[in-house]
Amino acid sequence: MTATETRTYRAGEFHSFEGGGRRFLYLVPAGAVFELDSAAEKLLDRLRTGHADHDELMSELVAAGHSYSDADELLEELYHSHVIVTGDTVREPLANPPEDFPLQSLVMNLTNQCNLSCTYCYEFGEDKVATPEGKAKFMDMETAMASVDFLLGQSGTRQNVHITFFGGETLMNFPLLKSVVAYANDRAASQGRSIDFSLTTNATLLTPAIIQFLSENRIGVTVSMDGPPDLHNKLRVFANGRGSYDIIEPRVKALIANHRTRPITARVTLTSGVTDVVRIYRHLKQELGFHEIGFAPVTTSPDRLYSINEPGMNGVLAQFKVLADEWLEFALRGEMHGFSNVSDTIAELIQGVNKSHPCGAALGLVGVGPSGDIAPCHRFVDSDTHSMGHISTGIDRDKQSDFLTRGHINSKYDCHSCWARPLCAGGCHHEAFVRYGDTGHANLHYCDWIREWTDICLRIYGAVSANNPEFLDQFAERKAL
Ligand code: SF4
Ligand code: SF4
Repeated sequence: MTATETRTYRAGEFHSFEGGGRRFLYLVPAGAVFELDSAAEKLLDRLRTGHADHDELMSELVAAGHSYSDADELLEELYHSHVIVTGDTVREPLANPPEDFPLQSLVMNLTNQCNLSCTYCYEFGEDKVATPEGKAKFMDMETAMASVDFLLGQSGTRQNVHITFFGGETLMNFPLLKSVVAYANDRAASQGRSIDFSLTTNATLLTPAIIQFLSENRIGVTVSMDGPPDLHNKLRVFANGRGSYDIIEPRVKALIANHRTRPITARVTLTSGVTDVVRIYRHLKQELGFHEIGFAPVTTSPDRLYSINEPGMNGVLAQFKVLADEWLEFALRGEMHGFSNVSDTIAELIQGVNKSHPCGAALGLVGVGPSGDIAPCHRFVDSDTHSMGHISTGIDRDKQSDFLTRGHINSKYDCHSCWARPLCAGGCHHEAFVRYGDTGHANLHYCDWIREWTDICLRIYGAVSANNPEFLDQFAERKAL
């Protein structure tokens, strides 16, 4: 008897879903999508009730009209794709990324100062982790040049790397931003490499000259904006409590009209009372003309007034679903919809993402604060607790290793039986710290939400791959905004 003939099979670890009238599996250990034909479907239905021997399944397939060789081929394909596994198959832990993982992105916090006082801000609000006291408020050129050299030096053989300018309010240090772009382009060109740039801004300080510079230098822009005036002005306010909508609206329109070289994105923070996702989307997309709009619920402790409770999050999901359905209609017509929450997840599915960590923080990405402190990402900048070295001395490898070990999916036992883990991997380290006091804790407060949302995106993926597969090609290279 051959080894194959003695196998006893059971169903592997997957999440099944339908899209476009076809049935698919999301194979969890591989983070891959597998389309089922009717024979595979029947076989899996059969295994739902338990185990079956190889010979038993062969006989049933042949009795159902398959040739012996087709039946054998089907079983082999399902076995090698891990759709079916043998009784003794154990879950392979995801490997640790190498210690010298090359940097891809640097987030430079050009200043920790801001001209707005948004109530929910993670930098200044009640949940802040930053301890900026006694540190530089604005980055200087020496620190900025050292940061660029650090990125190029730590990025291995990558041809193209990325700098994101961040704040506080990034444009409060625009003179430095201009100098950094010139310096970074020179340094990269001298090594035969290239750097692309993006920035996040509250848009209050945009001027025609700044917009022209951003456009000429192909700098991607994300504007933090929460919708029409009645919603935006609730929490995005100046220190005197005045809403910032009227100040930014003409500037945003000028930015969208005159920045021609990169798509302009809005980033919306959802809070209690600012959950009207569809209305916000319509305003930002149709009335202001943003190319893409991404939404994220505020990161906060659950007892803050602006945190969104469970019914609120369910309402958000229902509205995400409305926009997701619209995204699918657009995709089937070959048109791009601007709801980036779907686009980003579709890109991860196309790219077969299977995460050991929820994001690139402390891996391919680090943040640098105005004083030159290195942090896992921009949200931990200026925090003594989370500092991971200094730009003059490099990354503290022990601290980095501790952060990455705690944040690894292998350490998050609650996630080990979750089918959404290849994409979620426990969720944002910063959110975990704010909620649970540990960057390595799984964000268990939103698991059902994440799984439902992932299922919606999988169904869209299935429907597009069944009916307009070429449309998906454009997501092969897309990076999350
Ligand atoms: S945090 Fe929740 S949804 Fe995310 S992988 Fe873990 S168990 Fe799954
Ligand atoms: S997901 Fe969280 S930890 Fe990761 S880069 Fe974003 S804010 Fe930082």
